[in-house]
Amino acid sequence: MRGAAFNQGRAQPMPSSSSRNASAAPAKPKAASPRSAKPKSAASPKSKGAKAANTKAVGISKAAAETPFWKQKPLEALSQAEWESLCDGCGRCCLVKLEDEDTGQIHYTDIACKLFSAETCRCADYGQRRRKVHDCVKLTPAAVRSLKWLPRSCAYRLIAEGRDLAWWHPLVSGSASTVHEAGVSVRGRVALSETEVQLADYPDYIVSWPGQAPRPAKTRGSGAEKPRRRAEPAPE
Ligand code: SF4
Ligand code: SF4
Repeated sequence: MRGAAFNQGRAQPMPSSSSRNASAAPAKPKAASPRSAKPKSAASPKSKGAKAANTKAVGISKAAAETPFWKQKPLEALSQAEWESLCDGCGRCCLVKLEDEDTGQIHYTDIACKLFSAETCRCADYGQRRRKVHDCVKLTPAAVRSLKWLPRSCAYRLIAEGRDLAWWHPLVSGSASTVHEAGVSVRGRVALSETEVQLADYPDYIVSWPGQAPRPAKTRGSGAEKPRRRAEPAPE
């Protein structure tokens, strides 16, 4: 690639000092108990209208309680814990990216940031990451909306675009391992750490799969159903 400038844009999934995704435990809202959907007492014939209104009101609040937070709020309104839990731990954003000086096009490589652990798919020193990796980008709602290189499967990008999380997201599946099982994470796909590659050789490691959406799962309804076959990124 002629005249390429190296732009190692990296993302930090949340503006906190805690370890990335360490608390990615599912934070699904509690489902309303069957009792809460019923009016407390049977209505007399006199109060038929009141019963109808009451039932309607309870129905709305039950629906709200069952709607997960990422469908209820914009990124800007998320609590710290909600923001944190949105990161699916795929690690795609921790791959080194290159910017073509001539066209401005961003290319992914399968070279990982020096702090990225290919084994755990996590930042090895999240608390100190910005001291150690000066160009690690802090993800904020504004950054999510402006960064062109965020992976199409990134949960922050999906929510910013008004889309839903896929079945393999830990918040949907209830398991932190589904992002790996679905073939969405970079586990097993990192070629080298940036410490092992000469800068001039970076273009040799350009790959397209990190920027492509994983194949859509064959799901019903909300997309929370696990497909039978392993999801693979689209062919390069
Ligand atoms: S690309 Fe993956 S690891 Fe990076 S912020 Fe998005 S969901 Fe988290
Ligand atoms: S320092 Fe590197 S591994 Fe850690 S969050 Fe930033 S890009 Fe990812």
